[in-house]
Amino acid sequence: MPLLAAIDQGTTSTRVFITDADGAVVSQAQFEHAQHMPRQGWVEHDPVEIWRNTRKALVAALADKDISEQDIAALGISNQRETAVIWDKRTGKPVYNAIVWQDTRTNHGGDPAKYLHRTGLLHNSYPAGPKWAWILDNVAGARERAERGELLAGTIDTWLIWNLTGGGKDPANALHLTDVTNASRTLLMDLRTLEWDEELCRELGVPVGILPEIRPSIGEFGRIRRRGPLGGIPITGVLGDQQAALFGQQCLGENDAKMTYGTGLFMLLNTGTTPRISDTGMLTTVAYQREGEAPVYAQEGSVAVGGSLIQWLRDQLGILRTAEESESLAAQVPDSGGVTIVPAFSGLFAPRWRPDARGIICGLTRFVDRRHIARAALEATCLQTLEVVRAMGGDPNQLKVDGGMTSNNLLMQMQADILGIDVVRPANIETTVMGAASAAAMGISLIDAPLDLGATTTFQSKMAGPDRDRLIARWEDAVARALEQA
Ligand code: ADP
Repeated sequence: MPLLAAIDQGTTSTRVFITDADGAVVSQAQFEHAQHMPRQGWVEHDPVEIWRNTRKALVAALADKDISEQDIAALGISNQRETAVIWDKRTGKPVYNAIVWQDTRTNHGGDPAKYLHRTGLLHNSYPAGPKWAWILDNVAGARERAERGELLAGTIDTWLIWNLTGGGKDPANALHLTDVTNASRTLLMDLRTLEWDEELCRELGVPVGILPEIRPSIGEFGRIRRRGPLGGIPITGVLGDQQAALFGQQCLGENDAKMTYGTGLFMLLNTGTTPRISDTGMLTTVAYQREGEAPVYAQEGSVAVGGSLIQWLRDQLGILRTAEESESLAAQVPDSGGVTIVPAFSGLFAPRWRPDARGIICGLTRFVDRRHIARAALEATCLQTLEVVRAMGGDPNQLKVDGGMTSNNLLMQMQADILGIDVVRPANIETTVMGAASAAAMGISLIDAPLDLGATTTFQSKMAGPDRDRLIARWEDAVARALEQA
């Protein structure tokens, strides 16, 4: 049976999965890379370290299970989005570290909604475009070199494709490409034409000439350089990580939605072939595009504090020994004893957009102990999810879930209760890398739907309507207090 290789280039590590065409994971490898924080609010990665780790992970995943390169039919890539790299097109040497999506140096005082209708994005510190402009403006000689055509810009997908297909060793054959989902996170792509918007590029200070060609996510990108691991194998699927998770979760129909519960919470809702610009602060993004077909769009809402609230209870307050203990503790009490936590550590994001809000724990009495606090933390995760689901509209009739926190069964049940719809968790929650493998397999027409994620567990809502309403009213009240403090 032909096998598929998928790279998941993430914020903290690079992983490679080898799967078969039934979705069974045959082998995997993972390497972490350093986080550089030269100043407060700045986060950088070394692109060369990321490329080396990618090669190492490809080699290790093959070697670990004695897999022959000839058995790999195609390669897919999913990657951390919005992270920006600029490099020399002859040597492959980056002119500066990669500026990571979390980095806030491109924050500015202007109107964040200025380009919302053209790009689907808010002009805040996240998009890649202003990060490229920052490099050109702050590295001596970079802008002149870019104007002379000596430099190339890319998000991490572009950087990996360029190195896989040629790199500094064979720059003449290296391909300078990106996919529509990654391009839709730059603030430079017109969401409807799927082309670089020259006016935006001028306004934001990025020469169009250094940008990669935009390709559909599922289709032929090119072949891997002959000399090196997986030589000759085609790259046929490329998606930004959240889009890869949506795709991997088989959310291919309009109103299909997935929520990823990691450090933060990320929801994507498939809105079909027309972009739906939100007036509730959601982003609009390309979900995926198959070669020769219309693009499919998604709305995206994110919550800054998800699993990191559990980490805070564990590391800062010391009331949990492990993240898993949040489940067993919270299960010992029937409710949070009137406690509500609003974890606005860095303000409130979607749909409230109040960066000035600050966190609050309210409803404390002498009766409350750490079990109630743990339960309130899980409730806060569910209530923030409810706010995003409501703000998106679209009325999904179930929510597909993945991410580290979803192993918490109590959390999943509470989520179904609070949403009032089914919450569906696949056996294989590695949806991002599976989405990349799926895209690659579909790109060579090996399969015609995303790979199987195994048996699903469905959590059904059991909460009575009035109980849900009371819980939501208490949350609203606590959020109002968090905003009062601002
Ligand atoms: P990321 O991809 O953002 O690094 P993961 O998907 O690996 O995140 O999820 C890790 C997060 O999930 C951590 O913040 C951790 O605190 C939280 N977490 C992990 N297991 C549980 C659990 N059983 N209950 C609640 N939270 C959990």
